Amino acid sequence: MNDVDVVVVGAGSAGLAAAKVLRAAGRSFVVLEAMNRIGGRAWTSSEHFGVPFDIGCAWLHAADRNPYFEEAKAAGWTLQYHDMNVDHLYFGKRMATEDEEAAMKLADLRLSDLLERHEGADDRVSALLAKGHLARAAATFAGPMDFGKDYDEISVADFKSAADLEPNYFTKEGFGALVARFGADVPVELSTPVRKIRWDVPGVSCETDRGTVRAKAVIVTASPAVLAFEEIDFHPDLPDAHVEAFFDLPMGMLTKLPVEIRGTRLGLNPFDDLLIERRAQHDIYFLCFPFDLDLMVGFVGGDFAWELSAAGEEAGIDFVSDRLCDIFGGDLRKHIGRSTMTNWGGERWVRGAYAAARPGQAGARAVLSEPVANRIFFAGEHLAGPLIQTCAGARLSGEAVARQVVSALDGSPTATRPAAN
Ligand SMILES: Cc1cc2nc3c(=O)[nH]c(=O)nc-3n(C[C@H](O)[C@H](O)[C@H](O)COP(=O)(O)OP(=O)(O)OC[C@H]3O[C@@H](n4cnc5c(N)ncnc54)[C@H](O)[C@@H]3O)c2cc1C
Repeated sequence: MNDVDVVVVGAGSAGLAAAKVLRAAGRSFVVLEAMNRIGGRAWTSSEHFGVPFDIGCAWLHAADRNPYFEEAKAAGWTLQYHDMNVDHLYFGKRMATEDEEAAMKLADLRLSDLLERHEGADDRVSALLAKGHLARAAATFAGPMDFGKDYDEISVADFKSAADLEPNYFTKEGFGALVARFGADVPVELSTPVRKIRWDVPGVSCETDRGTVRAKAVIVTASPAVLAFEEIDFHPDLPDAHVEAFFDLPMGMLTKLPVEIRGTRLGLNPFDDLLIERRAQHDIYFLCFPFDLDLMVGFVGGDFAWELSAAGEEAGIDFVSDRLCDIFGGDLRKHIGRSTMTNWGGERWVRGAYAAARPGQAGARAVLSEPVANRIFFAGEHLAGPLIQTCAGARLSGEAVARQVVSALDGSPTATRPAAN
Protein backbone atom coordinates (compact mmCIF):
# COMPACT_ATOMS: atom_id res chain seq x y z
CA MET A 1 0.00 0.00 0.00
CA ASN A 2 1.27 3.46 -0.92
CA ASP A 3 1.98 6.16 1.61
CA VAL A 4 -0.67 8.90 1.70
CA ASP A 5 -1.46 12.18 3.43
CA VAL A 6 -4.30 10.74 5.49
CA VAL A 7 -5.56 7.30 6.47
CA VAL A 8 -9.29 7.11 7.22
CA VAL A 9 -10.22 4.18 9.44
CA GLY A 10 -13.77 3.04 8.67
CA ALA A 11 -16.11 3.51 5.71
CA GLY A 12 -19.32 4.34 7.56
CA SER A 13 -21.10 7.65 7.17
CA ALA A 14 -18.30 9.57 8.92
CA GLY A 15 -15.40 7.93 7.08
CA LEU A 16 -16.95 8.26 3.63
CA ALA A 17 -17.74 11.92 4.25
CA ALA A 18 -14.20 12.60 5.52
CA ALA A 19 -12.74 10.97 2.40
CA LYS A 20 -14.80 13.19 0.12
CA VAL A 21 -13.57 16.35 1.88
CA LEU A 22 -9.96 15.17 1.63
CA ARG A 23 -10.40 14.45 -2.06
CA ALA A 24 -11.95 17.89 -2.69
CA ALA A 25 -8.97 19.47 -0.87
CA GLY A 26 -6.55 17.61 -3.13
CA ARG A 27 -5.13 15.45 -0.34
CA SER A 28 -4.16 11.83 -0.93
CA PHE A 29 -5.86 9.31 1.32
CA VAL A 30 -6.81 5.69 1.78
CA VAL A 31 -9.95 4.41 3.48
CA LEU A 32 -9.45 1.12 5.33
CA GLU A 33 -12.63 -0.74 6.26
CA ALA A 34 -12.81 -3.87 8.40
CA MET A 35 -16.09 -5.18 6.97
CA ASN A 36 -16.66 -6.45 3.45
CA ARG A 37 -19.04 -3.60 2.63
CA ILE A 38 -19.25 0.16 3.09
CA GLY A 39 -21.86 1.95 5.24
CA GLY A 40 -21.11 0.58 8.72
CA ARG A 41 -24.28 1.01 10.77
CA ALA A 42 -26.09 2.27 7.66
CA TRP A 43 -27.07 -0.96 5.91
CA THR A 44 -30.10 -1.73 3.76
CA SER A 45 -30.69 -5.34 2.79
CA SER A 46 -33.43 -7.03 0.75
CA GLU A 47 -32.24 -10.46 1.85
CA HIS A 48 -34.85 -11.07 4.55
CA PHE A 49 -38.09 -9.77 3.06
CA GLY A 50 -37.40 -9.27 -0.65
CA VAL A 51 -37.82 -5.49 -0.16
CA PRO A 52 -35.29 -2.97 1.18
CA PHE A 53 -35.09 -3.21 4.96
CA ASP A 54 -32.83 -1.02 7.11
CA ILE A 55 -30.91 -3.20 9.52
CA GLY A 56 -29.29 -0.09 10.99
CA CYS A 57 -30.41 3.53 10.69
CA ALA A 58 -33.80 4.18 9.10
CA TRP A 59 -35.12 7.60 10.18
CA LEU A 60 -33.70 10.59 8.33
CA HIS A 61 -33.66 12.74 11.45
CA ALA A 62 -33.49 16.52 11.43
CA ALA A 63 -34.30 16.49 7.73
CA ASP A 64 -33.93 20.26 7.47
CA ARG A 65 -30.24 19.91 8.44
CA ASN A 66 -29.62 16.44 7.05
CA PRO A 67 -27.67 16.41 3.76
CA TYR A 68 -28.89 12.87 3.00
CA PHE A 69 -32.46 14.16 2.88
CA GLU A 70 -31.74 16.62 0.06
CA GLU A 71 -29.85 13.92 -1.83
CA ALA A 72 -32.74 11.47 -1.54
CA LYS A 73 -35.12 14.16 -2.77
CA ALA A 74 -32.88 15.07 -5.69
CA ALA A 75 -32.62 11.39 -6.65
CA GLY A 76 -36.41 11.10 -6.71
CA TRP A 77 -36.54 8.58 -3.89
CA THR A 78 -39.81 7.96 -2.04
CA LEU A 79 -39.84 9.97 1.17
CA GLN A 80 -42.40 9.92 3.94
CA TYR A 81 -42.69 12.32 6.87
CA HIS A 82 -43.16 10.53 10.18
CA ASP A 83 -44.42 12.13 13.37
CA MET A 84 -43.16 10.44 16.52
CA ASN A 85 -46.48 10.47 18.41
CA VAL A 86 -47.65 7.20 19.88
CA ASP A 87 -50.87 6.23 18.08
CA HIS A 88 -51.63 3.07 20.05
CA LEU A 89 -50.55 2.51 23.64
CA TYR A 90 -50.88 -0.78 25.53
CA PHE A 91 -50.02 -1.77 29.06
CA GLY A 92 -49.16 -5.44 28.72
CA LYS A 93 -52.20 -6.90 26.95
CA ARG A 94 -54.52 -4.02 27.83
CA MET A 95 -55.16 -1.01 25.60
CA ALA A 96 -54.56 2.27 27.42
CA THR A 97 -57.60 4.37 28.22
CA GLU A 98 -58.00 7.83 26.68
CA ASP A 99 -57.06 9.35 30.04
CA GLU A 100 -53.86 7.32 30.14
CA GLU A 101 -52.96 8.39 26.61
CA ALA A 102 -53.57 12.02 27.51
CA ALA A 103 -51.42 11.61 30.63
CA MET A 104 -48.59 10.28 28.48
CA LYS A 105 -48.71 13.27 26.15
CA LEU A 106 -48.62 15.61 29.13
CA ALA A 107 -45.69 13.65 30.55
CA ASP A 108 -43.77 14.24 27.33
CA LEU A 109 -44.06 17.98 27.81
CA ARG A 110 -43.25 17.70 31.50
CA LEU A 111 -40.07 15.78 30.69
CA SER A 112 -38.80 18.58 28.44
CA ASP A 113 -39.58 21.06 31.19
CA LEU A 114 -37.75 19.00 33.83
CA LEU A 115 -34.73 18.69 31.58
CA GLU A 116 -34.65 22.40 30.96
CA ARG A 117 -34.76 23.23 34.66
CA HIS A 118 -32.50 20.44 35.90
CA GLU A 119 -29.90 21.48 38.44
CA GLY A 120 -27.86 19.62 41.01
CA ALA A 121 -25.22 16.96 41.19
CA ASP A 122 -27.29 13.92 40.20
CA ASP A 123 -26.75 13.65 36.46
CA ARG A 124 -28.90 10.54 35.93
CA VAL A 125 -32.10 10.80 33.88
CA SER A 126 -33.66 8.34 36.36
CA ALA A 127 -33.27 10.94 39.15
CA LEU A 128 -35.02 13.47 36.98
CA LEU A 129 -37.88 11.10 36.24
CA ALA A 130 -38.29 10.26 39.91
CA LYS A 131 -38.68 13.97 40.61
CA GLY A 132 -41.36 14.40 37.98
CA HIS A 133 -43.49 11.27 38.65
CA LEU A 134 -43.87 10.88 34.93
CA ALA A 135 -46.02 8.36 33.15
CA ARG A 136 -43.48 5.74 32.17
CA ALA A 137 -44.39 5.58 28.49
CA ALA A 138 -42.90 9.02 27.86
CA ALA A 139 -39.71 7.92 29.56
CA THR A 140 -39.51 4.74 27.47
CA PHE A 141 -38.89 6.82 24.39
CA ALA A 142 -36.52 9.15 26.14
CA GLY A 143 -34.50 6.21 27.44
CA PRO A 144 -34.25 2.78 25.85
CA MET A 145 -35.84 3.56 22.48
CA ASP A 146 -33.99 6.79 21.71
CA PHE A 147 -30.77 6.59 23.70
CA GLY A 148 -30.50 2.81 23.72
CA LYS A 149 -29.94 2.97 27.48
CA ASP A 150 -31.98 2.58 30.64
CA TYR A 151 -32.64 5.83 32.50
CA ASP A 152 -30.15 5.26 35.30
CA GLU A 153 -27.37 4.99 32.68
CA ILE A 154 -28.16 8.21 30.82
CA SER A 155 -26.50 11.50 31.68
CA VAL A 156 -28.89 14.45 31.87
CA ALA A 157 -26.19 16.76 30.48
CA ASP A 158 -25.58 14.42 27.55
CA PHE A 159 -29.30 14.01 26.93
CA LYS A 160 -29.81 17.77 26.96
CA SER A 161 -27.02 18.34 24.46
CA ALA A 162 -28.84 16.23 21.85
CA ALA A 163 -31.00 18.20 19.44
CA ASP A 164 -34.68 17.76 18.84
CA LEU A 165 -34.60 15.55 15.75
CA GLU A 166 -37.74 16.85 14.05
CA PRO A 167 -38.60 16.69 11.19
CA ASN A 168 -38.16 12.95 10.66
CA TYR A 169 -38.56 11.12 7.36
CA PHE A 170 -38.24 7.60 6.00
CA THR A 171 -37.15 6.61 2.53
CA LYS A 172 -38.62 3.49 0.97
CA GLU A 173 -35.38 2.67 -0.84
CA GLY A 174 -33.54 2.57 2.51
CA PHE A 175 -31.26 4.90 4.47
CA GLY A 176 -28.42 2.40 4.20
CA ALA A 177 -28.84 2.39 0.41
CA LEU A 178 -28.67 6.20 0.48
CA VAL A 179 -25.36 6.10 2.35
CA ALA A 180 -24.04 3.41 -0.04
CA ARG A 181 -25.02 5.67 -2.95
CA PHE A 182 -23.23 8.61 -1.30
CA GLY A 183 -20.07 6.54 -0.84
CA ALA A 184 -20.14 4.66 -4.13
CA ASP A 185 -17.40 6.79 -5.71
CA VAL A 186 -15.05 6.63 -2.72
CA PRO A 187 -12.23 4.09 -3.13
CA VAL A 188 -12.25 1.82 -0.07
CA GLU A 189 -10.03 -1.10 0.91
CA LEU A 190 -12.64 -3.56 2.22
CA SER A 191 -12.00 -6.42 4.66
CA THR A 192 -8.93 -4.57 5.89
CA PRO A 193 -9.11 -3.99 9.64
CA VAL A 194 -6.49 -1.66 11.04
CA ARG A 195 -4.76 -3.62 13.81
CA LYS A 196 -2.21 -1.13 15.05
CA ILE A 197 -1.51 2.58 14.78
CA ARG A 198 2.04 3.69 15.59
CA TRP A 199 2.69 7.33 16.33
CA ASP A 200 6.26 7.04 17.61
CA VAL A 201 7.30 7.58 13.99
CA PRO A 202 7.06 10.71 11.85
CA GLY A 203 3.31 11.01 11.15
CA VAL A 204 1.51 7.72 11.75
CA SER A 205 1.82 4.19 10.49
CA CYS A 206 -1.29 2.01 10.22
CA GLU A 207 -0.76 -1.74 10.23
CA THR A 208 -3.17 -4.17 8.57
CA ASP A 209 -2.98 -7.83 7.59
CA ARG A 210 -2.37 -6.64 4.02
CA GLY A 211 0.50 -4.34 4.87
CA THR A 212 1.34 -1.02 6.48
CA VAL A 213 0.38 2.45 5.29
CA ARG A 214 2.29 5.52 6.44
CA ALA A 215 0.55 8.88 6.54
CA LYS A 216 0.81 12.34 8.02
CA ALA A 217 -2.44 11.91 9.98
CA VAL A 218 -5.19 9.39 10.66
CA ILE A 219 -8.94 9.89 11.14
CA VAL A 220 -10.38 7.10 13.29
CA THR A 221 -14.15 6.62 12.91
CA ALA A 222 -14.51 3.29 14.74
CA SER A 223 -17.09 3.34 17.56
CA PRO A 224 -15.82 4.03 21.09
CA ALA A 225 -16.67 0.43 22.00
CA VAL A 226 -14.38 -0.91 19.27
CA LEU A 227 -11.65 1.33 20.70
CA ALA A 228 -12.38 0.40 24.33
CA PHE A 229 -12.04 -3.27 23.37
CA GLU A 230 -8.60 -2.40 21.97
CA GLU A 231 -9.33 -3.65 18.48
CA ILE A 232 -6.75 -1.06 17.45
CA ASP A 233 -3.48 -1.18 19.35
CA PHE A 234 -2.11 2.35 19.64
CA HIS A 235 1.64 2.55 20.12
CA PRO A 236 2.64 4.31 22.28
CA ASP A 237 -0.54 4.23 24.35
CA LEU A 238 -2.95 7.10 23.85
CA PRO A 239 -3.15 9.66 26.66
CA ASP A 240 -5.17 8.41 29.63
CA ALA A 241 -7.89 11.02 29.10
CA HIS A 242 -8.62 9.68 25.62
CA VAL A 243 -8.67 6.07 26.76
CA GLU A 244 -10.99 6.95 29.64
CA ALA A 245 -13.27 8.75 27.19
CA PHE A 246 -13.73 5.51 25.18
CA PHE A 247 -15.02 3.86 28.36
CA ASP A 248 -17.15 6.87 29.34
CA LEU A 249 -19.01 6.59 26.03
CA PRO A 250 -20.35 3.03 26.15
CA MET A 251 -22.67 1.86 23.44
CA GLY A 252 -26.40 1.82 23.93
CA MET A 253 -28.38 -0.91 22.26
CA LEU A 254 -31.33 -0.92 19.91
CA THR A 255 -32.52 -4.20 18.45
CA LYS A 256 -35.00 -4.48 15.60
CA LEU A 257 -37.46 -7.34 15.31
CA PRO A 258 -39.29 -7.00 12.00
CA VAL A 259 -42.18 -9.43 11.46
CA GLU A 260 -43.94 -10.09 8.19
CA ILE A 261 -47.74 -9.91 8.58
CA ARG A 262 -49.60 -11.16 5.53
CA GLY A 263 -53.21 -10.61 4.52
CA THR A 264 -54.29 -8.22 7.28
CA ARG A 265 -53.54 -4.70 8.51
CA LEU A 266 -55.06 -5.33 11.96
CA GLY A 267 -56.98 -2.06 11.78
CA LEU A 268 -53.70 -0.14 11.75
CA ASN A 269 -52.52 2.47 9.26
CA PRO A 270 -49.14 2.58 7.55
CA PHE A 271 -46.53 4.25 9.80
CA ASP A 272 -48.69 4.05 12.96
CA ASP A 273 -46.64 3.91 16.15
CA LEU A 274 -47.66 1.24 18.65
CA LEU A 275 -46.06 0.97 22.07
CA ILE A 276 -46.46 -1.88 24.54
CA GLU A 277 -45.34 -0.99 28.05
CA ARG A 278 -44.33 -3.98 30.14
CA ARG A 279 -42.71 -4.63 33.49
CA ALA A 280 -39.01 -4.00 34.12
CA GLN A 281 -38.58 -2.06 30.89
CA HIS A 282 -39.31 -5.07 28.71
CA ASP A 283 -41.15 -2.62 26.47
CA ILE A 284 -41.54 -3.01 22.74
CA TYR A 285 -42.36 -0.41 20.13
CA PHE A 286 -43.72 -1.19 16.64
CA LEU A 287 -43.50 0.85 13.50
CA CYS A 288 -46.55 -0.50 11.67
CA PHE A 289 -46.60 -1.36 7.97
CA PRO A 290 -44.16 1.31 6.71
CA PHE A 291 -44.87 2.20 3.07
CA ASP A 292 -47.81 -0.20 3.32
CA LEU A 293 -45.39 -3.13 3.27
CA ASP A 294 -46.39 -6.37 5.01
CA LEU A 295 -44.07 -5.55 7.91
CA MET A 296 -44.43 -4.63 11.56
CA VAL A 297 -41.02 -3.55 12.78
CA GLY A 298 -40.50 -4.18 16.50
CA PHE A 299 -37.85 -2.30 18.48
CA VAL A 300 -36.47 -3.03 21.95
CA GLY A 301 -33.80 -0.90 23.58
CA GLY A 302 -31.40 -0.61 26.50
CA ASP A 303 -30.55 -3.51 28.82
CA PHE A 304 -33.50 -5.54 27.59
CA ALA A 305 -32.15 -5.34 24.03
CA TRP A 306 -28.79 -6.73 25.19
CA GLU A 307 -30.63 -9.50 27.08
CA LEU A 308 -32.68 -10.46 24.05
CA SER A 309 -29.55 -10.47 21.87
CA ALA A 310 -27.91 -12.85 24.31
CA ALA A 311 -30.96 -15.16 24.24
CA GLY A 312 -30.67 -15.40 20.45
CA GLU A 313 -32.75 -14.80 17.36
CA GLU A 314 -35.26 -17.60 17.94
CA ALA A 315 -36.08 -16.27 21.41
CA GLY A 316 -36.37 -12.76 20.00
CA ILE A 317 -38.75 -13.84 17.26
CA ASP A 318 -40.91 -15.81 19.73
CA PHE A 319 -41.01 -12.77 22.01
CA VAL A 320 -42.17 -10.41 19.30
CA SER A 321 -44.78 -12.83 17.86
CA ASP A 322 -46.17 -13.55 21.35
CA ARG A 323 -46.53 -9.84 22.12
CA LEU A 324 -48.43 -9.26 18.88
CA CYS A 325 -50.70 -12.25 19.60
CA ASP A 326 -51.29 -10.92 23.16
CA ILE A 327 -52.90 -7.90 21.60
CA PHE A 328 -54.40 -9.03 18.33
CA GLY A 329 -55.32 -12.61 19.29
CA GLY A 330 -53.89 -16.06 18.57
CA ASP A 331 -55.41 -16.14 15.09
CA LEU A 332 -52.74 -13.67 14.05
CA ARG A 333 -50.23 -16.56 14.00
CA LYS A 334 -51.50 -17.76 10.66
CA HIS A 335 -50.68 -14.33 9.19
CA ILE A 336 -47.13 -14.26 10.52
CA GLY A 337 -44.45 -14.90 7.92
CA ARG A 338 -40.72 -14.33 7.97
CA SER A 339 -38.97 -12.45 10.77
CA THR A 340 -35.49 -11.70 11.92
CA MET A 341 -33.56 -10.00 14.74
CA THR A 342 -30.71 -7.54 14.24
CA ASN A 343 -27.52 -8.13 16.16
CA TRP A 344 -25.40 -4.99 16.40
CA GLY A 345 -23.97 -6.07 19.75
CA GLY A 346 -22.46 -9.12 18.05
CA GLU A 347 -20.95 -7.09 15.21
CA ARG A 348 -17.28 -7.04 16.12
CA TRP A 349 -16.53 -3.77 14.30
CA VAL A 350 -19.39 -1.84 15.95
CA ARG A 351 -20.44 -3.53 19.25
CA GLY A 352 -23.73 -1.80 19.95
CA ALA A 353 -26.06 0.78 18.43
CA TYR A 354 -24.65 4.19 19.38
CA ALA A 355 -22.71 5.80 22.21
CA ALA A 356 -24.22 7.49 25.26
CA ALA A 357 -22.13 9.20 27.94
CA ARG A 358 -22.15 7.72 31.43
CA PRO A 359 -23.83 9.96 34.01
CA GLY A 360 -21.31 12.60 35.08
CA GLN A 361 -19.14 11.96 32.01
CA ALA A 362 -20.74 14.01 29.26
CA GLY A 363 -17.40 15.82 28.88
CA ALA A 364 -15.91 12.66 27.34
CA ARG A 365 -17.14 13.78 23.93
CA ALA A 366 -15.10 17.01 24.16
CA VAL A 367 -12.02 15.05 25.22
CA LEU A 368 -12.20 12.79 22.16
CA SER A 369 -12.72 15.81 19.96
CA GLU A 370 -9.15 16.87 20.71
CA PRO A 371 -6.61 15.31 18.35
CA VAL A 372 -3.63 13.47 19.77
CA ALA A 373 -0.28 14.98 18.78
CA ASN A 374 -2.01 16.78 15.92
CA ARG A 375 -1.93 13.44 14.06
CA ILE A 376 -4.65 11.19 15.44
CA PHE A 377 -8.17 12.56 14.97
CA PHE A 378 -11.48 10.96 15.96
CA ALA A 379 -14.82 11.35 14.18
CA GLY A 380 -18.21 9.63 14.09
CA GLU A 381 -21.71 9.73 15.51
CA HIS A 382 -20.31 9.94 19.04
CA LEU A 383 -18.68 13.30 18.21
CA ALA A 384 -21.52 14.82 16.23
CA GLY A 385 -22.48 17.78 18.44
CA PRO A 386 -26.24 18.14 18.72
CA LEU A 387 -26.76 15.36 16.16
CA ILE A 388 -24.99 12.72 18.25
CA GLN A 389 -26.12 9.17 17.59
CA THR A 390 -27.44 9.96 14.10
CA CYS A 391 -26.15 9.01 10.68
CA ALA A 392 -26.34 12.61 9.43
CA GLY A 393 -24.42 13.70 12.52
CA ALA A 394 -21.71 11.13 11.74
CA ARG A 395 -21.38 12.53 8.23
CA LEU A 396 -21.15 16.14 9.44
CA SER A 397 -18.59 15.08 12.03
CA GLY A 398 -16.49 13.32 9.36
CA GLU A 399 -16.60 16.41 7.15
CA ALA A 400 -15.69 18.81 9.98
CA VAL A 401 -12.77 16.68 11.15
CA ALA A 402 -11.44 16.22 7.62
CA ARG A 403 -11.45 20.02 7.21
CA GLN A 404 -9.57 20.28 10.50
CA VAL A 405 -7.00 17.76 9.26
CA VAL A 406 -6.56 19.66 5.99
CA SER A 407 -5.85 22.87 7.96
CA ALA A 408 -3.39 21.01 10.16
CA LEU A 409 -1.58 19.64 7.09
CA ASP A 410 -1.61 23.08 5.50
CA GLY A 411 0.30 24.28 8.53
CA SER A 412 -2.46 26.34 10.12
CA PRO A 413 -2.30 26.15 13.90
CA THR A 414 -4.73 23.44 15.00
CA ALA A 415 -7.85 25.22 16.00
CA THR A 416 -10.26 23.70 18.42
CA ARG A 417 -12.48 21.38 16.47
CA PRO A 418 -15.28 23.20 14.67
CA ALA A 419 -18.79 22.11 15.59
CA ALA A 420 -20.02 19.29 13.40
CA ASN A 421 -23.04 21.31 12.34
C1 LIG B 1 -30.25 -0.46 15.09
C2 LIG B 1 -29.82 0.94 14.81
C3 LIG B 1 -30.76 1.89 14.46
C4 LIG B 1 -30.38 3.20 14.19
N1 LIG B 1 -31.33 4.09 13.79
C5 LIG B 1 -30.95 5.31 13.35
C6 LIG B 1 -31.88 6.14 12.69
O1 LIG B 1 -33.04 5.77 12.54
N2 LIG B 1 -31.45 7.34 12.21
C7 LIG B 1 -30.13 7.75 12.35
O2 LIG B 1 -29.79 8.85 11.89
N3 LIG B 1 -29.24 6.96 12.97
C8 LIG B 1 -29.60 5.75 13.45
N4 LIG B 1 -28.68 4.89 13.97
C9 LIG B 1 -27.31 5.37 14.18
C10 LIG B 1 -26.52 5.48 12.88
O3 LIG B 1 -26.63 4.28 12.17
C11 LIG B 1 -25.08 5.76 13.27
O4 LIG B 1 -25.02 6.92 14.08
C12 LIG B 1 -24.15 6.01 12.07
O5 LIG B 1 -24.42 5.14 11.01
C13 LIG B 1 -22.71 5.88 12.56
O6 LIG B 1 -21.81 6.19 11.53
P1 LIG B 1 -20.26 6.22 11.86
O7 LIG B 1 -19.56 6.46 10.58
O8 LIG B 1 -20.00 7.13 12.99
O9 LIG B 1 -19.92 4.76 12.42
P2 LIG B 1 -20.02 3.33 11.72
O10 LIG B 1 -21.19 3.27 10.82
O11 LIG B 1 -19.94 2.34 12.81
O12 LIG B 1 -18.72 3.30 10.81
C14 LIG B 1 -17.46 2.98 11.35
C15 LIG B 1 -16.80 1.97 10.46
O13 LIG B 1 -15.51 1.67 10.97
C16 LIG B 1 -15.24 0.30 10.70
N5 LIG B 1 -14.18 -0.14 11.63
C17 LIG B 1 -14.23 -0.34 12.96
N6 LIG B 1 -13.04 -0.73 13.43
C18 LIG B 1 -12.21 -0.75 12.36
C19 LIG B 1 -10.82 -1.08 12.20
N7 LIG B 1 -10.06 -1.45 13.22
N8 LIG B 1 -10.28 -1.00 10.96
C20 LIG B 1 -11.03 -0.62 9.89
N9 LIG B 1 -12.35 -0.32 9.99
C21 LIG B 1 -12.92 -0.38 11.20
C22 LIG B 1 -16.57 -0.38 10.95
O14 LIG B 1 -16.63 -1.62 10.32
C23 LIG B 1 -17.56 0.65 10.37
O15 LIG B 1 -17.87 0.36 9.01
C24 LIG B 1 -29.02 3.57 14.25
C25 LIG B 1 -28.05 2.61 14.59
C26 LIG B 1 -28.45 1.32 14.86
C27 LIG B 1 -27.40 0.30 15.19
